[in-house]
Amino acid sequence: MTKIQMNVPLVEMDGDEMTRIIWDYIKEILLHPYIELKTEYYDLGLQKRDETDDQITIDAALATKKYGVAVKCATITPNAQRVEEYNLKQMWKSPNGTIRALLDGTVFRAPVLVEGIKPLVTTWKKPITIARHAYGDIYRNVEYRVGGPGKAELVFSGEHGEESRQTIYDFEGKGILMGMHNLDHSIESFARACFNYALDVNQDLWFSTKDTISKQYDHTFKDIFQEIYDKEYKERFDEAQLEYFYTLIDDAVARVIRSEGGYIWACKNYDGDVMSDMVATAFGSLAMMTSVLVSPEGYFEYEAAHGTVTRHYYKHLQGEETSTNPIATIFAWTGALKKRGELDDLKDLVDFARQLEEASLKTIEAGIMTKDLALISELPNIKTVNTKSFLEEIKKTLDTIRS
Ligand code: NAD
Repeated sequence: MTKIQMNVPLVEMDGDEMTRIIWDYIKEILLHPYIELKTEYYDLGLQKRDETDDQITIDAALATKKYGVAVKCATITPNAQRVEEYNLKQMWKSPNGTIRALLDGTVFRAPVLVEGIKPLVTTWKKPITIARHAYGDIYRNVEYRVGGPGKAELVFSGEHGEESRQTIYDFEGKGILMGMHNLDHSIESFARACFNYALDVNQDLWFSTKDTISKQYDHTFKDIFQEIYDKEYKERFDEAQLEYFYTLIDDAVARVIRSEGGYIWACKNYDGDVMSDMVATAFGSLAMMTSVLVSPEGYFEYEAAHGTVTRHYYKHLQGEETSTNPIATIFAWTGALKKRGELDDLKDLVDFARQLEEASLKTIEAGIMTKDLALISELPNIKTVNTKSFLEEIKKTLDTIRS
């Protein structure tokens, strides 16, 4: 059989630990036999980042801007222990943070649903995608521990001499203070990324903040979304019969729990951080969460939402068998291949990506799965397999689908 051809390379960002091992297996077992895989390879493994003073991460992000579509393996974000373990020159920043800042992107996280693994919320039938604003708020805050009585003020000194001064609180004793900010430009990018993504995947978009309490801060988010929607997206949403609707975050939470799923829920930075973990857990497993970074210019970077699965890697190094779930990493590849295929008009590449997704789910539905899924599956006669055997089983299913 002739292999599927590609025209434009995918930006391939390799990573660390167990996911780096899985990365190679996926290419060897599920991609190379079928596709003349064209990638521009960037090794974002910690060692290479250290060797290049993290320039490799910047280069990979710039390549994503050049080609439009990237696929990324999970990577270590170093902490003090990792600096020692890898003898690093310094505690390099999170690669995801660096890439996100360069692409000005929004992260969309969606679960992969499969028969036999039921969401804990029984009404959920379709995926719920969380779109998290990835800039500002408490993640860029300034904090102060108030040691005793005194007056706290919010002061803004404008470039042309104008000044605004408001009392935050007259402290009579100890307390705490925090200042945070956001930027219209960043909120606008977030809004456009959400509207574009909703149109791309043909799903409704919900957005929630606490604008009743935060009449300037949160209300500005609400207003910017509405203005951009009315001016730039309403017509296209109407044509696609999609809905954009804003609601208070408390109301959104109640609706989400009672819903069937099948929409995108856009959240401010902190809300998105918390809600995406809640949604991932309630859908069953972190190993089944996919993630895509979408820039307002329309660049896409696909990855698994989970980390490098360190515990399994140490076992692997000791020659022990692991049963690590590769689904989210496979779906990162299929997401990227599908997008590349759509952009380059390569139907057989898009079809292949869909078949690989189908094969992955069918294999699990046939009762063959990794240990993390076996623990939560309701299927009878489960066969728990190791990391590599699972991929080989998926290949068998794929060959049946393609024959
Ligand atoms: P992790 O996602 O690797 O693991 C969290 C827990 O989930 C562990 O118990 C793990 O065994 C389980 N788990 C996760 N994915 C699994 C899979 N595919 N199959 C089976 N079980 C799975 O997160 P962590 O342990 O907090 O972090 C490990 C490393 O990953 C850290 O160095 C961290 O910096 C990095 N990390 C990277 C990313 C990323 O690149 N996107 C995200 C999170 C963490």
